[in-house]
Amino acid sequence: MLGRKLLVLCAFMKVSNEMIFDWFGNPIEIPQQPTQAEPNPCIAVYGNGPEGQTCKGCVHLRYPIRRNPKQKFWKCDLRKLTHGRATDHRVSWPACGRYEARTEEYHGG
Ligand code: SF4
Repeated sequence: MLGRKLLVLCAFMKVSNEMIFDWFGNPIEIPQQPTQAEPNPCIAVYGNGPEGQTCKGCVHLRYPIRRNPKQKFWKCDLRKLTHGRATDHRVSWPACGRYEARTEEYHGG
């Protein structure tokens, strides 16, 4: 019973998605979650790439062909290549200074 009352009260106090108020009506600041837990490590070495570009369109991004075609472990040519997760590369990372636009569709390899 108490849990339900508390839930209704919390729903009442939440006015919008951006603002939440405490018991006394004071707004509570919600820290923004970082969108990417880890940044592109190549940016630290080569600097920022073109604005708005991601690694997805770069010629240096590739994945080794595996038996299971659904398994794609993306790697960047400019990083040390291993077979471990530590060097997996995210296609959504912002491009680094060595970005070279891919002109053809990529099929792995
Ligand atoms: S932009 Fe290209 S070279 Fe730079 S990190 Fe991404 S895949 Fe590697």
